[in-house]
Amino acid sequence: MSNPKALLEEYEIDPKRALGQNFLHDPNMLEKIVETGEVTKNDIVIEIGPGTGALTHVLAQNAKHVYCIEIDMRLQTLLENELAPYDNVSIIWADVLKTNIAELVGESPYLLVANVPYYITSAIIKHFLEDSPRPQRVVMTIQYELAERITATPNNMSLLAVSVQYFGSPEIITRMKPAVFWPRPEIDSAVLKIDVFDQPPVEVSSDKAFFRVVRAGFSQKRKQLRNSLGGGLGIKAKESGALIEQAGIDPQRRAETLTIAEWGALARLADELSE
Ligand code: SAM
Repeated sequence: MSNPKALLEEYEIDPKRALGQNFLHDPNMLEKIVETGEVTKNDIVIEIGPGTGALTHVLAQNAKHVYCIEIDMRLQTLLENELAPYDNVSIIWADVLKTNIAELVGESPYLLVANVPYYITSAIIKHFLEDSPRPQRVVMTIQYELAERITATPNNMSLLAVSVQYFGSPEIITRMKPAVFWPRPEIDSAVLKIDVFDQPPVEVSSDKAFFRVVRAGFSQKRKQLRNSLGGGLGIKAKESGALIEQAGIDPQRRAETLTIAEWGALARLADELSE
């Protein structure tokens, strides 16, 4: 692999902060990311934002096929030259959030491995876990603080944590100092792994029914569940209080304290109420 800084200088390209262009140049970290993804020659991999191709090199050597999606056309000549030795890499020049993943991989299982642009981390997670065929496993470099929020446990849950933990099991693999990137970001990063479930961990009528209740619960952050759920579902606090008690939950608790199983119980009861 060529050093990203040297490559960008050779092609006279300045990194664009607005596109989250912090390039990873530590070979050990690149290996660690691919190792964490357990990428094998049977695997199709999607990579978001190949940049100068540092991670793509390692992925191409380990995977069956790599689809990498890059928005910055200034990198075209550089990236095509860098990846020319591989016949198992396809470059898609597009915005990942506007890319139809089903059209790309069809029904084939795939892994998502990426050093993502930080300005759209949450949108990327939503795109791949909620709106597209889901990957089997995700390995992403993201902001450390966001990785902590995603892996939070009851008492510190958020809509984001519930959204990820409903679809899979997230784990922080390692912390990364800014110096492993060029240019250096201002914050620490984390390699986050999400093992995606085949089925949601709770029995609910649909993902939509589950998230209707979760969104309602988190709609008014500092309020007790009785009030936030009532407001969000458009029912009286008394009614929502009864529903919460029926689920075996203290209505004075706040949304951030609930487990995924408790959200599941609430979603089932709210379903019955609206039938
Ligand atoms: N993969 C390279 C590495 O590991 O060094 C670069 C990672 S850099 C953090 C993020 C990359 O995502 C950049 O190449 C940037 O141009 C690209 N990018 C930014 N926004 C994007 C978008 N909406 N769709 C696809 N790629 C995007």
